[in-house]
Amino acid sequence: MADSEQSREKQPPCTICNRPAIVRVHPDTHLCSIHFAASIEERVTRTIDEEGMIRDQERVAVALSGGKDSSALLSLLHEFAENRGEIDLLAITIDEGVSGYREETIKAAERLTGTLGVEHRIVTFRDVYGHDLDEFLRSREEMACTVCGVLRKQLLQMEAKRCDSTVLATGHCQDDEAQSILMNYLKGDTGRIARDASKSGHPVFVRRIKPLSRIQEREVAIYGMVKGIYTELPECPYAGYALRGEARKMLNFLELRYPGTMEKLVIGYREVRERVRVLNHPEPVDICESCGGPASGSHCRACILVQRLVPCRLPDDLIPSIRSAPE
Ligand code: SF4
Repeated sequence: MADSEQSREKQPPCTICNRPAIVRVHPDTHLCSIHFAASIEERVTRTIDEEGMIRDQERVAVALSGGKDSSALLSLLHEFAENRGEIDLLAITIDEGVSGYREETIKAAERLTGTLGVEHRIVTFRDVYGHDLDEFLRSREEMACTVCGVLRKQLLQMEAKRCDSTVLATGHCQDDEAQSILMNYLKGDTGRIARDASKSGHPVFVRRIKPLSRIQEREVAIYGMVKGIYTELPECPYAGYALRGEARKMLNFLELRYPGTMEKLVIGYREVRERVRVLNHPEPVDICESCGGPASGSHCRACILVQRLVPCRLPDDLIPSIRSAPE
């Protein structure tokens, strides 16, 4: 049999249009690039609408690291905003200061926002906290993802608020959600198990949404390739310290053996959270005395962490730098 005939045989046609398929989405459904992209756009739009994530006239800040998930998210929300109109988008990139890594992802973020014509703001750890992540972590690299995650969240919230955004969209996909759930259980972090920032009515929160939470990581990557926005980027040098990496390996293994594992984990977790959330772990109701952000107590987690990392700087010293971080 000729090679071309063999490859035609291996490549099933799209279930909808008969063009060559690029992906199998269900055991009996194969899709070509056009119908695959359309199915992702339709599923994300449905997620946004069913969960009431974005309303007309909203200003939506998109957390854009420049990696594949956040790039796909910005592209999808740009499409969504074009169709709906009356939705204002901007992208916020946090530069933690990780040498040899973050520079590349920032370039990718700048390319994408330039192509889409979306307003783009970059906020650096150095400008706000006076130190890069690399400096914060000297001799305590094992704390990398905790420090990075807590401080990045604080800056995203602050910048989104400063820009009058009403919503903050992050690129967490279904795999990220499943990993976070597993990690919370492994760490015994019941407070996080019960919390849901997207439903918070706390006035100092910019409401967080996760429009990709029903899409698998693999699907997000394929969508990025189909749309020509996927870029191979270096891995963060601190990734090896992350518990998330171990959670990812475990879940990928289970997903391969028992397809649907991650989706079931996420759905089951949401049901449990609804039952225990308000009863045992109320949302934080205090205002941080240092930065003005949400807190459980006198100071938020980020300001307490910064004080531990830079003991010579009292939390109060942070007020001017955080509140007047560069426009
Ligand atoms: Fe930050 Fe950890 Fe991700 Fe690196 S791997 S960007 S340190 S959260």
